[in-house]
Amino acid sequence: MYDIAVIGGGVVGGAILRELTRYKLKAVLLEKEPDVCMGASKANSGIVHAGFDALPGSNKAIFNVLGNKMMKRYAKDLGVKYKNNGSLVVAFGEKDREKLSELLLRGRKNGVRGLKIISGKKLRRLEPNISENATCALYAKTGGIICPYELTIAAIGNAMDNGANLLTEFNVVKITKTGEGFTITSEDGKSVTAKTIINVAGAGSGEIANLCGDDSVKIGFRRGEYLLLDRESGDLVSHTLFFTPTEKGKGILVSNTVDGNIILGPTAEELGEYDVSTTANGLDSVIEKAKVMVKNPPLYNTITSFAGVRAYAKERHDFIIERSAKVEGLINVCGIESPGLTSAPAIGKFVVEKLIPEELRSERNKGYIKKRKPDYYFGALSARKKNKIIEKNADYGKIVCRCEKITEGEIREIIRKNPQATTVDAVKRRLRAGMGRCQGGFCQPRVAEILSEELNIPLEKVKKSIKGSELLAGKSK
Ligand SMILES: Cc1cc2nc3c(=O)[nH]c(=O)nc-3n(C[C@H](O)[C@H](O)[C@H](O)COP(=O)(O)OP(=O)(O)OC[C@H]3O[C@@H](n4cnc5c(N)ncnc54)[C@H](O)[C@@H]3O)c2cc1C
Repeated sequence: MYDIAVIGGGVVGGAILRELTRYKLKAVLLEKEPDVCMGASKANSGIVHAGFDALPGSNKAIFNVLGNKMMKRYAKDLGVKYKNNGSLVVAFGEKDREKLSELLLRGRKNGVRGLKIISGKKLRRLEPNISENATCALYAKTGGIICPYELTIAAIGNAMDNGANLLTEFNVVKITKTGEGFTITSEDGKSVTAKTIINVAGAGSGEIANLCGDDSVKIGFRRGEYLLLDRESGDLVSHTLFFTPTEKGKGILVSNTVDGNIILGPTAEELGEYDVSTTANGLDSVIEKAKVMVKNPPLYNTITSFAGVRAYAKERHDFIIERSAKVEGLINVCGIESPGLTSAPAIGKFVVEKLIPEELRSERNKGYIKKRKPDYYFGALSARKKNKIIEKNADYGKIVCRCEKITEGEIREIIRKNPQATTVDAVKRRLRAGMGRCQGGFCQPRVAEILSEELNIPLEKVKKSIKGSELLAGKSK
């Protein structure tokens, strides 16, 4: 019997799990996919928002501002790259200018420091490639960028190092209330029991609440499509550039990523169901808007496109972070759309300190380790240090991913580390092998071979990402 089952291995589930392991309790994370971070947390803009957007007093505003303040330390402890690059909401004309003043006041009410409106001239000094038509901008010095999957994986890995369990490919389809808590059953008939459930299943959180007997969580889906440009174009902008929001929406953003790429997007399209396909129309609209924001965006350097789905709370349009009013022992953390990535550390702390039963927090985990070694570290070492490692293990001298210069030694190491990488894309999210210009064209077969060796499974069982995504059908005769 676990004390707590966290359902959903995204950035918020990861933050909660990590926080739980500060106490002496038995916690398990249940994730339906073969790897963690397969929902909204893997496909978003990676922006640590300052907090001027959400309405004062809303959960979104409160957790955004708190999360922003916590992020630098949180990322450092977890060995994750974070950059405080600052953001600009750009105005194109007088109507936008009025909106910027509104956002400035709202931001101050929310407790955001360092907001100011800057003039066209200063704006151009900060961003030489910004459109000639941009007139002024709201500058937020606390805006930042982070890699969302690195952050999620590190938090879950750290929680596991501190004693939490992870069960992947555990698609929860049935939940039964028992005398002491719940029996939670997966699609393939496995089951675990837990006293308390924390429902943080993103797009699946309405369904999880329903399975427990709580029909109050209604989730809507809004897709966002993106283009990603090669690092070669990484100096296009240095801040995150947003359009001024209008009744028609927020427009897209143009930003650099913490890994030095340029990200353009996302669109905002209501969907009847969860769907992460990209579309020609969606990507065309990203291109059109990028051309409005910056002069000559180097679109020839596009290396990939992708989409993520925001799972929002349909009626409340705010984060739901509370004990269920209908089912004892169920805590709902649902409808965590943007700024959920930014808010994750603050949500994790709040859920554990304020919502879980007090008796579970009676004893501290004395052996709690708050730091985690970064997954990606080898490339940043000096030649002398690299050579020392290669002398001990020649695998660190064999480059597998030519674009990102990732070695066989690093790949083998990551497959053995918490949370274990078991698919080609899981290796990619941890080390960037396959994320460069060729997008895995060269390294994918070798990564698959290494996975097959390390996991001791036949090559034709190695998956690219989800169930059914095996790369090979079988051996030819
Ligand atoms: C296009 C887009 C752009 C965004 N940009 C930003 C941004 O720049 N900054 C920011 O702060 N926020 C941003 N966000 C919001 C942020 O990505 C989310 O708030 C955050 O990732 C939500 O995390 P989560 O853990 O709640 O959900 P998820 O990451 O979706 O995790 C839920 C997990 O639950 C699992 N699951 C679902 N059903 C089941 C089941 N039945 N059994 C077991 N497991 C299950 C899923 O597989 C998934 O792994 C953006 C979101 C999108 C989509």
